[in-house]
Amino acid sequence: MTLASKLAEERRARLAAERLLELKQAELFAANRKLGKHAEKLSNEIVETRAEVNSVRTENQKVKSDLQVANEKIEIAERRLWLSIEAIQDGFAFFDADNRMIAANPSYLSVFDGLEEVTQGITYARLLQLLTDEGIVHIGDVASADWRKAMLDRWHRPTPPPVVLQLWNGQYIKLIDQRGHGGDIVSLAHNITDTVRYEAKLKKEQKRAEAASRAKSAFLANMSHEIRTPMNGVVGMADLLLDTGLSEEQRLFASTIKNSGEALLSIINDVLDYSKIEAEKLALRPEPFDLERCIHEVMTLLQPSAREKGVTLIVDYDLFLPTLFVGDPGRIRQVLTNLIGNAVKFTSSGHVMVRVVGEPHESTGKCEVHIAVEDTGIGIPEDKIGHIFGEFNQVEDDRNRAFEGTGLGLAITNRLINLMHGTIWVDSVEGKGSTFGFQLTLPVEEDLSLSPPALPDSVRKILVVDDRAINRSLLEKQMEQMGASVVVCASGREALENLKDIDLILTDYGMPDMDGLELTEALRAQGSDVPVVLLSSDPAVVQGDPSLGQSQGLLKKPVSRRDLFHKIAEATRVQDVLPVKDKIHSVVDASTLRQMRILAAEDNKTNQLVLGKLLKNLNIELRFANNGFEAVEAYSDMRPDLIFMDISMPKMDGKEATRRIRALENGTTVPIVALTAHAVDGDEEGILSAGLDHYLTKPLRKGAIMDMISRHQPKIAQNPFPPTDLKQSGT
Ligand code: ADP
Repeated sequence: MTLASKLAEERRARLAAERLLELKQAELFAANRKLGKHAEKLSNEIVETRAEVNSVRTENQKVKSDLQVANEKIEIAERRLWLSIEAIQDGFAFFDADNRMIAANPSYLSVFDGLEEVTQGITYARLLQLLTDEGIVHIGDVASADWRKAMLDRWHRPTPPPVVLQLWNGQYIKLIDQRGHGGDIVSLAHNITDTVRYEAKLKKEQKRAEAASRAKSAFLANMSHEIRTPMNGVVGMADLLLDTGLSEEQRLFASTIKNSGEALLSIINDVLDYSKIEAEKLALRPEPFDLERCIHEVMTLLQPSAREKGVTLIVDYDLFLPTLFVGDPGRIRQVLTNLIGNAVKFTSSGHVMVRVVGEPHESTGKCEVHIAVEDTGIGIPEDKIGHIFGEFNQVEDDRNRAFEGTGLGLAITNRLINLMHGTIWVDSVEGKGSTFGFQLTLPVEEDLSLSPPALPDSVRKILVVDDRAINRSLLEKQMEQMGASVVVCASGREALENLKDIDLILTDYGMPDMDGLELTEALRAQGSDVPVVLLSSDPAVVQGDPSLGQSQGLLKKPVSRRDLFHKIAEATRVQDVLPVKDKIHSVVDASTLRQMRILAAEDNKTNQLVLGKLLKNLNIELRFANNGFEAVEAYSDMRPDLIFMDISMPKMDGKEATRRIRALENGTTVPIVALTAHAVDGDEEGILSAGLDHYLTKPLRKGAIMDMISRHQPKIAQNPFPPTDLKQSGT
């Protein structure tokens, strides 16, 4: 190899080495650059991580401080809770599911004062043991073990009922225990000593008040007796005086005495009733009664004052509603008298209408009866309606001041209806009128499956004549309900022009221009023989008129359904029936009958005089006995059909006399009616249990006396009521 080639080779080799070096340098450079980038990335990441670590550290610190605050708050709350629990007067303790005490406040622990073992961890059973062993609790006659067992049984119940313990020091503790989640029990020992003492005091007060109320009732009963007896004399004698020959002035004086006496008695009755209801002494006496008759009797009583003012009284008793119910007729009559009486009192023109509707339920045998008393009177201002049922409440205004009253009527009415489980309502427009309504559910005393009353077949078309539209429309409605076709006319003249095919005329008596009798005369004069039945609110006026004979009957308004149907049947059957005729005496020859025998036992001469006067016009044999002995004697001698028996008589009282009469009776029982000045219920029971059948309070009312006579009138005796007396019962 030449030098040159060697040099060339070396050069090549050097060049190659230089290239390799260059290459390696480039690689190294690239690697260095990559390393640089990686290092930069790493350093970036380190910076980020450090920031994160910082933020987590701050957060951690915040959470830590929050936790600390929360812990402090919990501590404060717990401290406060305990402070409160410790401060409360009542005992408070917690028990765990094993019935061990977790904690208790000083009040709770104070009961166990001095017993060191009563602390955290003590069981409830041990506490009970200590309560009895240490005599902390007063357990009466119960054996300690029994008492503890009962208390422990109670404790284990899911919701232990509260229990009251009496402690040795006279304090009363009510234990209220409540089971929480996880079986813990919270126990509250509530000191109720004050409440128990207050209750005892109240009971004592109540007893005292009841005693006072009894004393008040007794006082009222006595007072009523003391006032009623002389009032009987005053009212009765004034009544007698009015029947004697008096000058106009004397008559005025006597009737004022009578009216004032009656007003006083009605006030006494109101006050007495009210206090009886207040003292819950008023007992209802349900018995079968005729509601429709009861309403008509009340209407009859009020008719004179209504007539005086020209106010029409109307009864719209649903034709298909039963009339016999079981209820306390006396109290229902009192409610009706109050409501209808008020309606008449506060109405100066127009009408007072009593509507009775109801719904009998055959399944229960009861009927919901709705009675509404509607008037066209002064009405009640809207803002006063809410007050009128309160006691002594009257609507105070100029118009009302003209009316007398105690303001007790509606309060009594309201309470009576509540007592009968009914409801009362009122609807009124000032200046237009009022409607008072009440609802009672009463057992029905008649067969509900019986068919309602019907008109005779011959009566198909009826002419109703009345100048008052309300009367016309009521009769029209009733007759149409019965299946008749009805023509209504407002005057006699109009009636005379509408006679075509008429089978019956029902006409009002008192009409302007042509009255009912004149209409009848005109009919007969023109040859019509269509039966005419007259209706009058004051039949006594019509009765004496000879032309009444031309009509077929006279009815007293408001007319009851029974009377109306009876009269229509009679009028369309017989042409010349007298206006009023007693049924029995129309079929039995009166001459073969004896008089009804009545014995009246009454020691007081004034009362004898009053009774004698009341019965004077009756067709009866009347004998007086001055005491019980005489009454028994007279009974044996006379065998009366009815006895009126005064209760308080010297020598032998009415109860004893009745017992003796009952012992003498053989087979037939004589009805005996007690007459008494006592007005308290207890009396009534005593009297009825002595064997008397009925009970009447003095002063005696003619209506009540007549009612008794009418009820017990024997078939074998003559009619006690003279035929001229249209209505058997007076006022
Ligand atoms: P009294 O009638 O004895 O005043 P009530 O208790 O019966 O007492 O009635 C209370 C009041 O209610 C009456 O004084 C009267 O103001 C009012 N009132 C009762 N019924 C009616 C009526 N039908 N029309 C107008 N006001 C009446």
